[in-house]
Amino acid sequence: MPKSKSLFNSAKKVIPSGVNSPVRFFEPYPFFVKKAQGSQIWDEDGHKYIDYCTGYGAMILGHKHPEVISAVQEQLSIGTLYGAPTALEIELAELIQKSYPSMQKIRLVNTGSEATMTAIRLARGFTKKKKIIKFEGCYHGAHESMLVRAGSGSAGIAVSDGIPNDFTKNTIVVQYNNSEQLDRVISKNKDIAGVIVEPVLGNMGLILPQKNFLKDMRKMTKQADIPLIFDEIITGFRMSLGGAQEYFGIKPDLTTLGKSLSNGFVISAIGGRKEIMDQLAPGGKVYEASTFAGNPISVAAGIASIRTMSTLKNKIYPKIAKQCLTLAKSIHESATKYGISHQVNAIESMFQIFFTDKPVTDYASSKRADGKKFQKLFHHLLKQGVFVAPSQFETGFFSYAHTQSDLEATMHAYDNSLRQVRQ
Ligand SMILES: *Cc1c(COP(=O)(O)O)cnc(C)c1O
Repeated sequence: MPKSKSLFNSAKKVIPSGVNSPVRFFEPYPFFVKKAQGSQIWDEDGHKYIDYCTGYGAMILGHKHPEVISAVQEQLSIGTLYGAPTALEIELAELIQKSYPSMQKIRLVNTGSEATMTAIRLARGFTKKKKIIKFEGCYHGAHESMLVRAGSGSAGIAVSDGIPNDFTKNTIVVQYNNSEQLDRVISKNKDIAGVIVEPVLGNMGLILPQKNFLKDMRKMTKQADIPLIFDEIITGFRMSLGGAQEYFGIKPDLTTLGKSLSNGFVISAIGGRKEIMDQLAPGGKVYEASTFAGNPISVAAGIASIRTMSTLKNKIYPKIAKQCLTLAKSIHESATKYGISHQVNAIESMFQIFFTDKPVTDYASSKRADGKKFQKLFHHLLKQGVFVAPSQFETGFFSYAHTQSDLEATMHAYDNSLRQVRQ
């Protein structure tokens, strides 16, 4: 890939590590994208890939969905940023609420990181308590209290330099899928302001919540009067139109949405119980603000996305789930045929393979998988025109634009690639 190689060399001179988000880098250098359409993405060297990274799950309708693009074009012609409220923002909030009735009030922000940061500040402001429980392996954005791994005691340790432990000592890390541990931590600690969780874990590879894990969590937090935050930035509009909360029938106190909300534009949302959300400034004392929040371009994209997803929901969700299940089965059959120890985790339109003989149910079991083998698989897939996220600790995503022939080509590519990583 001579063009990508040369672009990467130029990029490294002006951009740290040549990329604007760490996971985009892979050895020896990432391909640079020229354009995308539907389920396809093209690099600068003219290669075409079937895209399962899909903007890390954001492009659920596929690249350049006509309804979304035309809504944005229309808005472009009348202005891009006003610094004052618009009717569009009400329309989007009402649309979100229709599918997420637990979000009685909603604030729009830009990135998912901002949404979870605000959710945590709200939980603390509302309860006047300090500690936040998060689960090992869950990702909630790149801010101080959430860039935390399990500590030797109960408090977490920063995973990044530049975060003094003063900032992470109030984050308690609990094992995912471990209700007993959660119960112990909650009953021992009277200073817990909130519990935040990815209801389906999409940032440690793909890990499913075991039976009753989320139900137990809801029961315990309700009993202890602790706000439960569902970080649905991946699962929102993806597990179903109403996200994981609709899918599992669980009502959180606060919810964060992002990614699929706007099908490729910069917008996220935080919402939940009225009495918690009303703590936000200027009416309340929890401060949160942003120049670009609710900008009309992203909001127009959000409205068009949700309208499209609602209208087509009986077509979109069964189709992407069926395609995903078919691929997951086929990957499993190929890996079995070649005698490779593996696990395939899949739910609805999300999938991932792990090279290990033990079920992957939490951070530790995900870490035990053979990451080197995954790297090999990634490169073989890329050579055969299939782009999945370059890390074992990400998830594959189907979009509504993926076709039957994409699916067949992908099954074939996995089969070939697995044959080659066998040793
Ligand atoms: C992507 C993601 C975030 C962070 O969103 P950004 O828009 O990248 O800041 C937070 N939580 C989850 C579950 C995510 O997948």
